[in-house]
Amino acid sequence: MFHSFLIKYGEIGIKGKNRYLFEDMLVSQINYTLKSIDGEFHVYKQQGRIYVECGGNFDFDETVEALQSVFGIVGICPVVHAEDHGFDALAQEVVSYLEKVYPGESHTFKVNARRARKNYPMTSMELNASLGEKILQSLPQMKVDVHHPEIMLNVEIREKIYIYSKIIPGPGGMPVGTNGKAMLLLSGGIDSPVAGYMIAKRGVKIDAVYFHAPPYTSERAKQKVVDLAKIVSRYTGPIHLHIVNFTDIQLYIYDQCPHEELTIIMRRYMMRIAEHFAKETGCLGLITGESIGQVASQTLHSLAATNEVCTLPVYRPVIGFDKQDIVDISEKIGTYETSILPFEDCCTIFVAKHPVTKPNLNIIKRSEKHLEEKIDELVKTAIETTEVVVVE
Ligand code: ATP
Ligand code: MG
Repeated sequence: MFHSFLIKYGEIGIKGKNRYLFEDMLVSQINYTLKSIDGEFHVYKQQGRIYVECGGNFDFDETVEALQSVFGIVGICPVVHAEDHGFDALAQEVVSYLEKVYPGESHTFKVNARRARKNYPMTSMELNASLGEKILQSLPQMKVDVHHPEIMLNVEIREKIYIYSKIIPGPGGMPVGTNGKAMLLLSGGIDSPVAGYMIAKRGVKIDAVYFHAPPYTSERAKQKVVDLAKIVSRYTGPIHLHIVNFTDIQLYIYDQCPHEELTIIMRRYMMRIAEHFAKETGCLGLITGESIGQVASQTLHSLAATNEVCTLPVYRPVIGFDKQDIVDISEKIGTYETSILPFEDCCTIFVAKHPVTKPNLNIIKRSEKHLEEKIDELVKTAIETTEVVVVE
């Protein structure tokens, strides 16, 4: 029964020039998202609003679900269009709208008419009063409440007449692309896809880097990360996923350094390489799924030791979250089922029985001296052989 959607978005802090940027990015994200579903959609802005006109054989639920994945959307209002055939026909449309959307229900309501077309023969005030009266006659279970109505019945007179009242919640946040770009360290776990989602929700475009260690990590483990990136890209748009072969670096660290320091030193090299790609592609920060105390490499001491190699800011949006909080988000965004597939990740293979939990930076740096002979060459090779796939 619906013909289009009126898109509501947050307007705080988007005045002047920023407003255009915000709206244009929102339109382009909506277009990107609707590309993958059935139907013909026309997305446009008009008078400070964004509309999605729907045609073809579009499915209402599928379209709403897609729109609910677009950051920046606060509310989605399904709209019924009617031709302008005079007041009586309009009153009939409005009553039949209420009958269909609230069948048999009794509510308080208020009519909120707006004339975008000023040559319409009735004023907004007249429309409010006369439509209200018609509704009360046809649907006696409805009551008027002009202060706190349960239903705000919007009737907009444009070329056609637009009728809407329901607001389906959107995800909120800011349209991706309004806030620069950052590089996500994406593993196959639960936390990093959630971290990427959270930062993207603030308008940040995301690229990603994954470290794999064939043959210690399988092709299936790699595919799982591609699959996760694909799910995250529903919200963020296309992700350039950098797949780094980390095996030789890991083996070399394993040979040269104390095993209890392996994880920290490995993580320091991951950060260095991730930062290389971040800078190369214009990213302004790194993102990880680290959370304080979750594992040995995420104590404050370990985080400090890992962080020390980075010059870009490292964003850790789940840093203060309990595991269950992160799981809840991953279920909501649809990454959980993929994240828990039981494929080894490169950290678990080389994990020591008793990793240091309070690494001393001086000792770590001394251990890294044992790598001097070959490590630069190995890092260079890893960077040169990195495969980039565009996931969307
Ligand atoms: P996750 O659930 O995200 O894998 P985790 O709890 O397993 O996190 P760690 O393995 O210590 O924790 O990883 C901490 C963070 O380091 C991850 O959230 C991710 O951002 C990054 N990371 C870990 N392993 C990799 C990898 N193989 N490739 C890319 N990033 C990684
Ligand atoms: Mg992990």
